[in-house]
Amino acid sequence: MGEAAAAIVSQQYKPRNPQQSQYYLCVEDHFESFELGYDERFSARYGFLRPYVKDVMLRYLDCGDLHGGFARIKCPDCGHERLLAFSCKRRHFCPSCHQKRVVEFGEWLCMEVVKKVPHRHVVFSIPKILRRYFLYDRSLLSDLSRCAWETLKSFHQCASGKENATPGAVIAIQSFGDFLGFNPHCHVLVSDGCFYETGSFKTAPKLDQKGMMKLFRQKVLKLLLAKGKITPEIISMLDTWKHTGFTVFCGDRIYPHDDTAMENLACYIIRASFSQERMTYLRDEAKVVYKAKKGREMKTFDASEWLAAMCSHIPNRGEQMVRYYGYYSNVCRGNRQKEKTDDTIPCIIEADATSPAKRKAWARLIQKIYEVDPLTCPQCKGTMKVISVIDQPEVVKHILQHLGLWEMQKRPPPKIKYPPSAYYADEQIPSYDNVDPDYPFEAYL
Ligand SMILES: [Zn+2]
Ligand SMILES: [Zn+2]
Repeated sequence: MGEAAAAIVSQQYKPRNPQQSQYYLCVEDHFESFELGYDERFSARYGFLRPYVKDVMLRYLDCGDLHGGFARIKCPDCGHERLLAFSCKRRHFCPSCHQKRVVEFGEWLCMEVVKKVPHRHVVFSIPKILRRYFLYDRSLLSDLSRCAWETLKSFHQCASGKENATPGAVIAIQSFGDFLGFNPHCHVLVSDGCFYETGSFKTAPKLDQKGMMKLFRQKVLKLLLAKGKITPEIISMLDTWKHTGFTVFCGDRIYPHDDTAMENLACYIIRASFSQERMTYLRDEAKVVYKAKKGREMKTFDASEWLAAMCSHIPNRGEQMVRYYGYYSNVCRGNRQKEKTDDTIPCIIEADATSPAKRKAWARLIQKIYEVDPLTCPQCKGTMKVISVIDQPEVVKHILQHLGLWEMQKRPPPKIKYPPSAYYADEQIPSYDNVDPDYPFEAYL
């Protein structure tokens, strides 16, 4: 091995070792039997196995693995070089890629979308008996989001006394409840009051949670009836319930200068559907023990059953899980930007010397998560640059063999066939092509 090659090996960027996590092992050990047994064991409960779900799982297994392709990065000052593996960039299943997205989203939302006015966290949820309709027909999730928005808008406009006043809201759909059950609900970050056409903002009096719950309930039932999911008889039956099963939670006011609370909330509303810390994989028994978020309760799953539950929370390719309404809608934001009036109400984060594009650069986000900056040269602290992206399997193999890294492959080749050449063809670093649109990445590329 040459000196340069040896230097690359010694300095490989390895911030984590996904292959050794319990979660990774569980997916790797049980993917095959999960897939083979799915129709018989799980389709009645979760619907058919979506092809995209399989793609997400396989990509997770190869995420961060040099064998799947990599970028060569080099320091222009001292010539130091290393390799950076591709990541899968998929939501909810790959813990590290999802977390990257969460951090990015939090920054983007606070800098580009929400204004420096008071906000609240509001959560809308629905009774158990209605949840499965949303599992079998995911298009209903966007309607659920709209029901929540319309409810909030009515209450805010009523309180403001003006019809052309509007609140701004960001609504994220979460589909998971305790122990990964399917529980679709809306997390809303809403301005605590209305924006007026003049550009001013008036705070709202305390929201009437009970009234909102009633209106939300009415909207959801009307929706399900119109879509032919429920009958008038079911509605009559629900009317007799003492507790409706619909809930509206309304958090305390978050004040305009509490940037930390806003960013934490932004991250919270798109958080991953599961937590690695709460799972224990019992490899010998092929079981997963999952702890409750709070308290001591635990649930034991058969490993394949755990994967089936996890998979019900993977959104489809391109499925939008976050929506923007009223003053924060894409149309309103676009108009303000065109008219250059988007800054008339001060943004949450004040502009500073660095450009937004640079601040939100991919490398910086990695740094925020792993506390390592892959583009900082370890020798001279210069900024390393991507010099090439290697994704052709023969070339990947050739280089890794040359570096003595090919044999390090821990995982046997995937047992399920997929076209290797097309696999990473659309992956570029640090491009955000082909990602799922929770928010417009292109806005700052
Ligand atoms: Zn250097
Ligand atoms: Zn990944």
